[in-house]
Amino acid sequence: MKLFNTMTRTKEEFVPIEEGKVRMYVCGPTVYNLIHIGNARPMIIFDTVRRYMEYKGYEVNFVSNFTDVDDKIIKKAIEEGVSADEISKRYIEECKKDMNGMNVKPATIHPQATQEIDGMIDMIQTLIDKGYAYPVEDGTVYFRVRKFDEYGKLSHKNLDDLQSGFRALQVSGEDQKEDPMDFVLWKPKKEGEPAWKSPWCEGRPGWHIECSVMSKKYLGEEIDIHAGGEDLVFPHHENEIAQSECCNGKTFARYWMHNAFLNIDNKKMSKSLGNFRTVRQISEQYDLQVLRFFMLNAHYRSPLNFSADLMEASKNALERINDAAAKLKDIVDANQAVVITDAEKALLPEIQKFVEKYETAMDDDFNTADALAAIFELVKFANTNANGQSSAEFAGELLKTIEKLCDILGLIAVKKEEILDKEIEDLIAQRQEARKAKNFARADEIRDELLAKGIILKDTREGVKWKRA
Ligand code: AMP
Ligand code: ZN
Repeated sequence: MKLFNTMTRTKEEFVPIEEGKVRMYVCGPTVYNLIHIGNARPMIIFDTVRRYMEYKGYEVNFVSNFTDVDDKIIKKAIEEGVSADEISKRYIEECKKDMNGMNVKPATIHPQATQEIDGMIDMIQTLIDKGYAYPVEDGTVYFRVRKFDEYGKLSHKNLDDLQSGFRALQVSGEDQKEDPMDFVLWKPKKEGEPAWKSPWCEGRPGWHIECSVMSKKYLGEEIDIHAGGEDLVFPHHENEIAQSECCNGKTFARYWMHNAFLNIDNKKMSKSLGNFRTVRQISEQYDLQVLRFFMLNAHYRSPLNFSADLMEASKNALERINDAAAKLKDIVDANQAVVITDAEKALLPEIQKFVEKYETAMDDDFNTADALAAIFELVKFANTNANGQSSAEFAGELLKTIEKLCDILGLIAVKKEEILDKEIEDLIAQRQEARKAKNFARADEIRDELLAKGIILKDTREGVKWKRA
């Protein structure tokens, strides 16, 4: 399996630190609003990377944080007249709902910055003790960039170029810095802001230190993959490397993966530009599976332009897979008694060829667009070779393979039958009628029918209650 490493700018063979295991950290969102579909791109991409690695037999420890202390969260809290904590809690919940809708698996752990302050203070103290950081008069602690010779190695920036850029940009109030490039590890509190006690001042951590600390705590000092959107390469990931490598004296991450932007009218989709669509808005128009398909139909390192046309095309393409899978399922259900023919047996190895094609695409730096093309070839093959007379075994093999290849991409080939609240209520009423008429067989049948659709009934004194499983 090869993946493109931003650090070396080449595709490299993936070799884990520990055999059979992957330690992976993905920088998560700052939670002050509903996530937009730009934020959804890394979620979908790196969830797919994880799923493929799991398919390959790796045990993946997948850590993705929520940044729950930040200027934007504080601003939103002030606007609404509530605490920052209330804002971040609310949007973490909303984000989890969107992730679930996009079939993004929950991380092994989702740490939150505000729960990890002690670790941050410890790391900052170590950096000060080792001479890599210094506090200034007002209690701000800065990282001493010049002290780390390798600074710039990820973003391939030259320190002198960087320095002149920074000098031009230098913000007033930051003049206590030794060098314009130095960045904040800890900052003093302002009135009304959340703050924690520290040896330097009451205040809060800088953004970069959060990820260095959470990655170390949950994955160890050396990890396999660190990932995020390409806007994080500089300064965020460059600064994480500086902090972690100076503190631990070890290579922080072996592979750095970055997704390109999701654009709209060829401009990066972002909250600040106001050109965004939230995942929630998309979900009002489409099943979020369509959004997932749309994202995976492009290579993750290519910019992707959002458009209504592409979403429609994704919807239609996904339907082709769903229709083929539904047809195969019908054959399997109807033809249990049909015995596999020699001709069908001879076709079985052909199915494996599509799997190989799919794996070759995924092994080549997660080329999900080519992997989807392999699924479509298999769908075409199924449509050509399976019909009302096919054996359940043959149709079942096709179905199983389509489902498996889709599932690695987080796509659901066989749609679960959606049952609306109104239909449930109607069936419950019919069941009550049947019971009144002492037709218990019919009443049980309705209960089982609902259960098969994931609806659990509970008879209580106040009447029948139901919930989705
Ligand atoms: P943020 O909440 O801005 O820190 O972003 C969370 C994640 O979404 C980071 O990995 C960003 O790089 C990524 N991201 C934000 N906007 C976009 C975009 N338009 N396209 C792709 N990734 C993005
Ligand atoms: Zn991060």
